[in-house]
Amino acid sequence: MYIRVSEIPGGGLDVFASRGQTSIPRILEGMDPAPLTKCRLTDADLVLTVESGEVWAEGSFAAEGEAPCDRCSEPVVVRFGKAFRSFLSPASRGPGGGGPVELHEEDLDVGYYDGTGIEVDDIFWEQVALELPVKVACSEGCRGICPKCGANRNREACSCEAAGTPGPFDVLKNLKGKKE
Ligand SMILES: [Zn+2]
Ligand SMILES: [Zn+2]
Repeated sequence: MYIRVSEIPGGGLDVFASRGQTSIPRILEGMDPAPLTKCRLTDADLVLTVESGEVWAEGSFAAEGEAPCDRCSEPVVVRFGKAFRSFLSPASRGPGGGGPVELHEEDLDVGYYDGTGIEVDDIFWEQVALELPVKVACSEGCRGICPKCGANRNREACSCEAAGTPGPFDVLKNLKGKKE
């Protein structure tokens, strides 16, 4: 959804309140949500305000995605989201244009727009991309797949582990062997 800066009223524009919840871009077109295999916005909020050609975008999103567990490969539903604040300058004032914008506020994303309008999907695309999980695990205690027999160790106990790694009894045996 493209919003022209000229359409944004003085008091700001609550995008989804004015355009309706159905205008929330549920699926972000062209996005590769890796390591997630699927990702959709379950909720979103965005208020745009303009101040002498510069646009403030304040909002939040909630997203839901799916990915295989890094350890056991079982599908995991991942939920994430955040509140954000972006400051967008017309591209003509960007590098190579006018002077650089000096803003040192924390948690503020600074970017550029084409000078005419804002592509709402791009704003969310960028925010979701920043929050994509690096690691996915079905649970903290996931025991993963046995590298020897391929058994899912969350569901079945295979005997490879006991045979492969030295247990406390092997250590004792070794100690005895050294003494003798
Ligand atoms: Zn797992
Ligand atoms: Zn095994």
